[in-house]
Amino acid sequence: TERAPKPKLTLILASPRGFCAGVDRAIQIVETAIEKFGPPVYVRHEIVHNRFVVETLERKGAIFVEELDEVPEGARVIFSAHGVPKSVPEAAKARELIYFDATCPLVSKVHVEAERHHERGLDIILIGHSGHPEVIGTMGQLPEGAVCLVETVADAETFEPRDPAKLAFVTQTTLSIDDTAEIVAVLRRRFPRIVGPHKEDICYATTNRQEAVKAIAPRADAVIVIGAPNSSNSMRLVEVAERAGCSKSMLVQRAVDIDWAALGHPRTVGLTAGASAPDVLVDEVIAAFREHFDVTVEDVEAARESVQFKLPRALAG
Ligand code: SF4
Repeated sequence: TERAPKPKLTLILASPRGFCAGVDRAIQIVETAIEKFGPPVYVRHEIVHNRFVVETLERKGAIFVEELDEVPEGARVIFSAHGVPKSVPEAAKARELIYFDATCPLVSKVHVEAERHHERGLDIILIGHSGHPEVIGTMGQLPEGAVCLVETVADAETFEPRDPAKLAFVTQTTLSIDDTAEIVAVLRRRFPRIVGPHKEDICYATTNRQEAVKAIAPRADAVIVIGAPNSSNSMRLVEVAERAGCSKSMLVQRAVDIDWAALGHPRTVGLTAGASAPDVLVDEVIAAFREHFDVTVEDVEAARESVQFKLPRALAG
């Protein structure tokens, strides 16, 4: 018996999507350390927020831990791309662990900014999400009390500084561009002398992925974002797609997570991936769509990226 022809579907790929330069570098740091020194190499926290990446590195000889005290004496340990409080390298030194820092250079840049503000005697507002490792890392660059977290417009409206004339702000790198602009506008209105970056510290990769999803969402019956629920930039892509006019916006970690029933009978589906999601997962999702539909793939390019970061000297060459 002949099978009914598959329904036609246009799959619009948002470009850029997936790996950013900071994630690429962090993964290379783990791979290079394993090649150079042999397994095991310890990694504090998920190197990037993606199970597939973590499991692939585990098979190569990485051991993931949450805290440094789980790393045995004399071992090598890598800090994740999100950055760490100053206490972490200090503790590693005290325990004579050999460590490599995979903190994204764009996160380190925010750490340096915060330190400069602090040296100038300014109190610092960090715009970000409570509990995210990047926020813990940035707050942990300075003594307790030097950095206050602001998460929402409401927080910005009610924040009471010690001295409104001695205030600066920095931000998490993976926030919503639009939400952050609103929060910054409130801070600038309430504290006209606040010192900060020109706009915010959201990185190029976060910016471009949000722009690209905005470009595809209005045309799509549904948007699939490949990423993890603990990945800030991926969660923001889901929200951006919804706000850009796509009512069905879904986060999936793998193709098996796609809820085909909830998808209904779409004619056009948008597809993107968070900065920590590898290309193989995009290919896997496209292949899954090809099993259900007669797929035409269309690429919508919102920006071109050529950013690359060098490995730490101890691992380069
Ligand atoms: Fe760096 Fe941005 Fe990638 Fe985070 S999302 S690792 S800040 S480039």
